[in-house]
Amino acid sequence: FDMFVLAFVERVFRPTYKKDDIVLGKKLGEGSFGVVYRASLAKKSSSKDGDIVLKKATEYGAVEIWMNERVRRACANSCADFMYGFLENSTKKGVEYWLIWKFEGEATLADLLQSKEFPYNVEAIILGEVQDLPKGLERENRIIQTIMRQLLFALDGLHSTGIVHRDVKPQNIIFSEDSRTFKIIDLGAAADLRVGINYIPKEFLLDPRYAAPEQYIMSTQTPSAPSAPVATALSPVLWQLNLPDRFDIYSAGLIFLQMAFPALRTDSGLIQFNRQLKRCDYDLNAWRKTVEPRASAEIRRGFELLDLDSGIGWELLTSMVRYKARQRISAKGALAHPYFDREGLLALSFMQ
Ligand code: ADP
Ligand code: MG
Repeated sequence: FDMFVLAFVERVFRPTYKKDDIVLGKKLGEGSFGVVYRASLAKKSSSKDGDIVLKKATEYGAVEIWMNERVRRACANSCADFMYGFLENSTKKGVEYWLIWKFEGEATLADLLQSKEFPYNVEAIILGEVQDLPKGLERENRIIQTIMRQLLFALDGLHSTGIVHRDVKPQNIIFSEDSRTFKIIDLGAAADLRVGINYIPKEFLLDPRYAAPEQYIMSTQTPSAPSAPVATALSPVLWQLNLPDRFDIYSAGLIFLQMAFPALRTDSGLIQFNRQLKRCDYDLNAWRKTVEPRASAEIRRGFELLDLDSGIGWELLTSMVRYKARQRISAKGALAHPYFDREGLLALSFMQ
């Protein structure tokens, strides 16, 4: 069946929305480029359509709409379900874009990480029940493994589509209650290198807590703002040369670390870790040598978790968090890593 026919059918039959259809609810977040609200649709085609998230964005909303449309067609399961985006001109202040998504759920990975129950709170929502099993490292490892697999799966979808997210962090990972999986949100800083779409100013780009050491995705030798036609021809090559996707892999590696070490879940803990790692020239094994001898019981427990199954978790982690982008594993490579050989949470439900 022809892709053009499909695209046409979608265009004609997919619902569109306007300002008056949307009833604003409470504010969920406010970033440099917009404000996010929980909202509902006044006239809903089915009761499930009611719950939405609305982002009122600045001029950069245009890029975010473009990214979300692309994800919708190419790797829908990676990200929150995008419904519609439009230019809402009515304000005197200037252009404003409105973007709407399905409301996926209450909790981001950041919320879940903050709980003392983590990772058991995640086990409960993924399996939909609390397991009557002894708590312990093995079980925690299975849960963390399941979260990492879902995150890497979503990233692999984006990267295979040619999109680098650039703002991967627990706040931008939502738990979708319907599919019981984690999905990525917030394509506001994403870059599509295959068509050269990338015009968020660099100074706003990176969250320093999760950013890889390389400042920019493209090396300084490559032209900084490729025009679309040139970029279309060149960018697969540039992608190979610069491996921009490995920027997201570094961030995902830091999330892996935060799941293993409770002390790194606070802002100050993560910032302190980043400073220590930098002092070790971004060598995780060197970092380990400096902290392990005088580590608290909790930190030793984190290493113990990563050391399970002959240190396979630690091996994966150290292949994600590396100074040089080209030495980091890809999302696809990580999914094929032996760390994931044993089923995660699913195995738990059959262990009894
Ligand atoms: P920004 O970080 O630019 O403010 P985000 O797109 O990250 O905007 O959204 C802000 C917050 O809104 C998220 O951290 C999350 O808590 C919530 N949120 C965003 N999209 C959804 C969604 N589809 N379903 C549920 N909650 C969402
Ligand atoms: Mg965000």
